[in-house]
Amino acid sequence: MSFPTHRLRRLRRNEALRGLVRETRLTTSGLIHPMFVCPGTKVRQEVGSMPGVYQQSVDQIVEECREVESLGIPGIILFGLPETKDPRGASSLGSAGVVQRAIEAIRKAKLKLLVITDVCLCEYTDHGHCGVIENGEVANDATVAILAQQALSHARAGADIVAPSDMMDGRVGAIRTALDSNGFAQVAIMAYSAKFASAFYGPFREAAESAPQFGDRRSYQMDPPNGDEAMREVALDLEEGADIVMVKPALPYLDLIWRVKHEFNAPVAAYNVSGEYSMIRAAGINGWIDEERATMEVLTSIKRAGADLILTYFAKDVARKL
Ligand SMILES: [Zn+2]
Repeated sequence: MSFPTHRLRRLRRNEALRGLVRETRLTTSGLIHPMFVCPGTKVRQEVGSMPGVYQQSVDQIVEECREVESLGIPGIILFGLPETKDPRGASSLGSAGVVQRAIEAIRKAKLKLLVITDVCLCEYTDHGHCGVIENGEVANDATVAILAQQALSHARAGADIVAPSDMMDGRVGAIRTALDSNGFAQVAIMAYSAKFASAFYGPFREAAESAPQFGDRRSYQMDPPNGDEAMREVALDLEEGADIVMVKPALPYLDLIWRVKHEFNAPVAAYNVSGEYSMIRAAGINGWIDEERATMEVLTSIKRAGADLILTYFAKDVARKL
């Protein structure tokens, strides 16, 4: 293959030609819109570090869900900001919890959206860690038992998919068992399988009010340099019954999205996290970058790396563009 017989520019001459041979196409059908539900009514509070993202009460969540559905986005993922916090995250378990009430309200509104729920303790514990503390450490097995109960309460409220984000060992299996033995065999699990201890979660902690009050999350979230270990995490979650496996964050880990897609024959999700969103938004607001083009380029790169679905705060913007 050599010049001048081959001229790759021939197919780049205009948009029609480029469109004809485009290899990766972003579609609305693979987008998930994250939402933060808080107590009260008529609450719609913008998150300072994430312009365009809101903490909202249940009634407002339902309103935005109508918009999300009308844009053709297939699903949302809910994060809860509870009324009360305690050392064991008790407010995450009951039917009166913010997430459980939001699911019920969405169901009552007869929306066809897939409702995915984040399963974790960090938004509900007063210390802000993803598990319960015993002897100064996040205790794995005690946490897993609570997470299974939380996932079950989401299923009872009507969740389609539960998504454990805690990174405790064995939680996918425990959740699968809890769901199956209570008549929720149809509820799927999207596991945050390769979730790294990342600096890119910063703005989310403001949105979810979930910053750890001491220490950090490195004893349970993954060490960023480790790719082989990520494959072991994915393998274990699939063995335990995960239906979808996730890599989080997305952009600094595109190589791992690629590896997961090619090493396992399973649906792969990628979380385009808060820091990835805020960087583009901030630069866009300042006029330093073409926000729309940067967004499309980034999300297309995540898709090209192998992600089947993308959780992104840009979901509505992209759906409008597509
Ligand atoms: Zn957490």
